[in-house]
Order: sequence, then C-alpha cells, then structure tokens
Amino acid sequence: MKIETIRHSLAHIMAYAVQELYPGTKFGIGPTIENGFYYDFDLPKSLAPTELPKIEAKMKELIKKNIKFEKKIISKKEAKKIFKNQSYKLELIAELPEKKVSIYQSGKFVDLCKGPHVKSSKEIPADAFKLTKIAGAYWRGSEKNPQLTRIYGVAFKTKKELENYLSKEQEAEQRDHRLLGQKLELFLFDEEIGAGLPLWLPKGAVLRKIIENFLYQELTKQGYKWLWSPHIGNLNLWKKSGHWDFYKENLYSPIQIDNEQYLLKPMNCPFHVKVYNYKIRSYRELPLYLAELGTVYRYERSGVLHGLTRVRGFTQDDAHVICAPDQTAREIEKLVKYGLNILKTFGFKDYDIYLATRPPKYTGSLKDWQKAENSLKYVLKKLKLKYQPDPGGGVFYGPKIDIKIKDSLDRPWQCTTIQFDFNLPERFKMVYINQKGKKCKPYMIHRALLGSIERFIGVLLEHYAGSLPLWLAPVQVWIIPIGTRHEKYAQSVKKELSSLRVEVKEENETVSKKVREGEIQKIPYLLVVGDKEMKSKSVRVRERGKGDIGMMKLTKFIEKLKIEIEKKK
Ligand SMILES: [Zn+2]
Ligand SMILES: [Zn+2]
Repeated sequence: MKIETIRHSLAHIMAYAVQELYPGTKFGIGPTIENGFYYDFDLPKSLAPTELPKIEAKMKELIKKNIKFEKKIISKKEAKKIFKNQSYKLELIAELPEKKVSIYQSGKFVDLCKGPHVKSSKEIPADAFKLTKIAGAYWRGSEKNPQLTRIYGVAFKTKKELENYLSKEQEAEQRDHRLLGQKLELFLFDEEIGAGLPLWLPKGAVLRKIIENFLYQELTKQGYKWLWSPHIGNLNLWKKSGHWDFYKENLYSPIQIDNEQYLLKPMNCPFHVKVYNYKIRSYRELPLYLAELGTVYRYERSGVLHGLTRVRGFTQDDAHVICAPDQTAREIEKLVKYGLNILKTFGFKDYDIYLATRPPKYTGSLKDWQKAENSLKYVLKKLKLKYQPDPGGGVFYGPKIDIKIKDSLDRPWQCTTIQFDFNLPERFKMVYINQKGKKCKPYMIHRALLGSIERFIGVLLEHYAGSLPLWLAPVQVWIIPIGTRHEKYAQSVKKELSSLRVEVKEENETVSKKVREGEIQKIPYLLVVGDKEMKSKSVRVRERGKGDIGMMKLTKFIEKLKIEIEKKK
C-alpha cells in the first residue's frame, strides 16, 4: 500500500467527518501533499483550531467502522444529480472532458474522484495521522472566488513515524532563525524598509563582522587580494557581461541617471574583470585571486522571500580565480578542499555535493562545456568525494560544483559554489602574456564559500538553535554582580576580560532573573560575583547548557575561554 493512497483516503474520511459534524458543508477538493493531505471546505460556520481534535476523533470513529471505498463510473447526468447541492463539485463536473465520471462512495460520503483508495478504512492506521492546521484558501487559488477553509493533516504508516515527524517539526519551529533573530536581537525586517531587505541590529552586526573578519584573515593568508566595487554600474556593462540577457527577470529595473541607465549590481564579476584588465598581466601573476564581500541585489518574488535565507539584498563572500588553462584542475581541487574545510570550522561536517551541467540556455562552445565538465568530474573523483549529477543545473556561462551543507536536523542548504566560466574572459577580452611572450586567454572560476553571509547566518542560527559557539557568540560573557557593592569588582573583571565580548548586568533585578534572562539570550558564560568571589579574585561560572560549574580563579577562567575560542567549538 502506497502511503499516498492512505493519505488521500484520509482526506475523504476527513470530509466525511466534516459532513457529519457540520451539515450543510460544501466540498472543494482534497489532494495529498508532502507528508499528508488537505481538504477545502465551504463551512456553514467559521472553524477554530480547537475544533480539530473533535474532527480527528470523528475520523477515528469512522475508521473503526470499516467503511468501504467503492468506485463507481457513472454518467455526467447522474453525477450532477448526486452533487446537486455541491456547487464546487458541479463546476468540476462541467469541466471534465470525459462523458463518464468516476466517484467514490464511502459510507454516507460520496466524492468525485479517480482514486486510488484503500478498499476499506480498516487499512488506515488510525494512530498515525494528525490534523495540523486551518488556513484560508481561495477556491481554485483565485482571489475572485470565495474563500474556503482548508484543513491540513499529516499521515504516516506508523505511529512512530508520525511522532518522529511531529517532534522534528517542533524542533524546527524552535530553531526558526526568524524568531531567533528577534529573540536574540540580531536583525529585523521592516515593511517601511522593504521586503527581503534585512536590517542588522548591533548584536547581529557583530556576528557578521566576526564572520567577515574570519574570512578576511583566512583568505589573505591564502594569497587573495581584496577588492571593493560600487553597488551600481552602467547598464552597458551588464549587457556586455551577458547578465542583462540571461538574468533579466532576476534584476531590479534600471535607474535613469543623466542620459544613462544604471543597474543595481546582481553580481560582482564584471568589476573584478575590470580589475584584472586594467593592466597587462603576465603568466607569473597567475593564478590571481580576487576577493570581495560584495553586496548584490536580485529580484525575488515576494512569495519566496524567507527570513535571511531568501532575501533581495545580500552579501556574497565572492572571489574569482583567474588562471592559465593548465592550472584550472589544480585550482578547483584547492577550492573544493578549502571550501569543505571552512564549512567544517563553522561546525558543518555533513554535506551533499552536486555537479551541475549545461543548461538549455547557455553560451560558449559545446567543446568547452565538455572539457570543463570533465575537469570538474576529475577533481571530485580525485578527492574521492561522492557527488550527484544535476543535469542542466549549470549557469549560462559554465558548469559548477555546488556544496549543500546539512544542518543538525539534516536539512540541506546551498552554500559553496564553484563555477567555471568561459564567457567573461571571451566577452571582456581578458589576456595574459605567456612564457613565450604570446597573448593567451585565461580561465576564470567564480566561487563563493559561504554563499551569502545573510543566508549563512540564518543557517548557523538554525543549526545551533541560536546557541552559537563561543567564538561566534556576539556576547560571550555576562557578569552579574549580586549586590551594588559588587559592581566595582564586576567592572574590574570586565577589564580583565577585555579581549572578550562582555557585558556587566547592573540592572536592578534579582540575580536569578538575570540568570534566566542570560539563558534565554543563550549567552555562553554567566559569571556571578559576590563577596566570596571578590575576596578570592574569582568568579562563579554558569556555562550554557551545563549550569553552575563552580567557582574559578579569574586567571583560570580566562585560560579556559582562550582554549575554547582557539578550538572554535
Ligand atoms: Zn479520492
Ligand atoms: Zn563571479
């Protein structure tokens, strides 16, 4: 038995229960969806979520009755008679191209349906489903039509599967970065600012800075050169690069200035090409690594916007590697290895790798595509990395390797991307002088490791449920003086901890209230100081997730934190 069959049969049973409980209900449609089903009803009264258990109980009662699901093929005329009081069903019947229609009779409930269904309701596990929510939905999705009441349910083959699903959902809800962002005062979205444009609050800005500084230091060590490019550029630049032709629907409309049109930049690439081209390059300079934390703007439909993970303005940790053709494989190998390493530093050890190949809309020769796809494959094989093909998933200018990290709930998130490009070197006539003094065309690799800083922070928050590792925590330590006479000591402790991000909590509240607040704010360490601590130059330490771990000499506490920060755990 397919789970979809059970789910769809449950939709009928739910409609049957609703018919029994709320006579006069008109029925819309009731399909299966991922993990469950729904049904749209035109109810004689409005429905509160508190009624869901009542409907659920009725469904269980019906399931126990071993109700048969009987299929009948009848004429349209007969069907119109059966559904004479069901205006939505009549509308559907009128539109069916066939002369005959298929209906399912289960007990006193009859539905227009092709099936398949269970033979009898006894095949439905009565303890493995749950009605989850009520929502409004326009008939056939159009605002011109009446709004119906949609009841959602989830269903599985066993009670255990249902319980697993529900606890995972609950966990995901608690980890929702949009709620955490508010609770921890990291960022906000404001209608007056605009959809998909996050505003970073002081603590969120600190978190960003920590990540950006980390990237800056790491990449500088690797020999990357840092760039800074403008947020808008002449439309002609984007026409030349091909972005205007290939990406128009994802771009903001051009801005008119004097007699020219400018575009909010959707990518940093053409600027980096200009940096490469501003002087004659020798083979000795290759591979050249150009990096930028570049803020870009892309149009996303308002329906797909989601917290930080889907926004309209975001900062890419972008870089371009420009190299001689024979250096490409080695450079890609380095990028993949390096990317995985950086992700591991942030605590992501599981990932899926995709090799995305030529899309239907592309530029460049087939031979070039073949060569590039082969070299990406070669690298993944050499590194013994398992990957999945993503046919047609490449960018218009070349194939790419995508790394999707998995968070603690095993959900995949697109982060690292390494993209081959033979388009821009061609269009912008990029060259270098080789050993023999001859002009040659270099290859270009686009790469982002974290992807977008915004999305990455969203993922980090969900992965850690807001309890960020010490090295990332915007506030690492709270010092809580027991009484006003301990405030001076608290301030001196703060001074000793000057290399850390520390706040002294001097508000006029009880110690236990401050401790609770610190736990809600997910502060890694809470230090309580009173007479005893003052006398012995110590602190009483509460560690996040562990509670009170006892008194500690201040010097020892500093040493402990230094090690924890170095290990980035
Ligand atoms: Zn059906
Ligand atoms: Zn690029």
